[in-house]
Amino acid sequence: MDDPSTAADDGSGTLFGLDALGAGSAEDHGGPAFRDSVAARRLLPVREIHAEPAAAASPRGRQIIARFPEARVITVDSHWRIPGLHGNEGNVERWVRVKGETLVLGERKTLTVRPNGRSADWIAPGASNGCAMACAYCYVPRRKGYANPITVFTNGDRIIAHLARHIRRQGPKPAPNQCDDDAWVYDIGENGDCSVDALICDNTADLVHAFRQWPIAKASFATKFVNPDLLALDPRGRTRVRFSVMPPEDSRLLDVRTSPVAERIRAAADFVDAGYEVHFNLSPVVIRPGWQKAWGDLLRHLDDVLPAGVKRQAAAEVIMLTHNRELHEVNLGWHPRAEDVLWQPELQQAKRSENGAVNVRYRNRVKAEALETLRALVGHHAPWLRVRYAF
Ligand code: SF4
Repeated sequence: MDDPSTAADDGSGTLFGLDALGAGSAEDHGGPAFRDSVAARRLLPVREIHAEPAAAASPRGRQIIARFPEARVITVDSHWRIPGLHGNEGNVERWVRVKGETLVLGERKTLTVRPNGRSADWIAPGASNGCAMACAYCYVPRRKGYANPITVFTNGDRIIAHLARHIRRQGPKPAPNQCDDDAWVYDIGENGDCSVDALICDNTADLVHAFRQWPIAKASFATKFVNPDLLALDPRGRTRVRFSVMPPEDSRLLDVRTSPVAERIRAAADFVDAGYEVHFNLSPVVIRPGWQKAWGDLLRHLDDVLPAGVKRQAAAEVIMLTHNRELHEVNLGWHPRAEDVLWQPELQQAKRSENGAVNVRYRNRVKAEALETLRALVGHHAPWLRVRYAF
């Protein structure tokens, strides 16, 4: 890709040249779904579907295959590590394309709810794994290799039944914490982007609908994509959407194939009106010359454009960049300009993770000072924005 920073943002300030909230918006209930629009098809021009037999035969699998009638269906034994698809670090052009042109259908075998305690109380077993976008710092592809298109799990009903049992076992939340005052918060999108998944099938809709029956729990997911179809789901306050934002100049360089930051911010009011709780992820914070001014400008922009109804309920997570040596080496092959800001050895320290990968993060003192600076910027420019946690 020549200039990945412009892959999604054509400079018009809208996604793929269309105003996402105007193009077949689900807001007008009854209009055409956004997922059938040209813009959605451009993000996901699916040509190949690798499917486990049981997944392909399931009702959800059949719906997905019917949505993409031109796609060739290839039977695979397992959705995990498909030879010739996953991995392939050396062929970057191909794996960025694969993210849009290929889907994998599988059944989720392991249903584990993991404790978290930072962004959410619990990490739910996701209904997907992988992403059609290609942010240069993304940690999601690390386990499957870099060509990591979306795997959709077709047994979402089992995930929901498992969550129902887990929530029932917890009982009411005994005390407020940084995740939420009243509800147990479940992150439903740890390894992908639920807004993009909703372009493929109703897994996200089913989860949003499930959570509205559970008054002691709340779903939560981070997103960099504005999907107006979500506005029609009537979440009744039981789903928190966390729009990730960063200075637009950083986003144009690093967030490949995503909705422009201004569009994510513009969407916040519509999502609140539609019954979502809307928070912001100030993430990742990337230290580079001029970063303080850029974040100050972004926070001022949030203060200028967001209506009181969004500000009243908003909160934020602040997450400093973590990076990874293998990803750094891969990125040098396709997007070296991103590495000019992501890879800063004089500011970063290495840490070997459990799987042997070398992760890097800002040195303790650098990070502590940056977090203090960012908190001060929030206090100054957007004092209504409560920082739930900064990490
Ligand atoms: S949107 Fe999220 S999951 Fe998708 S590539 Fe970007 S960071 Fe990764």
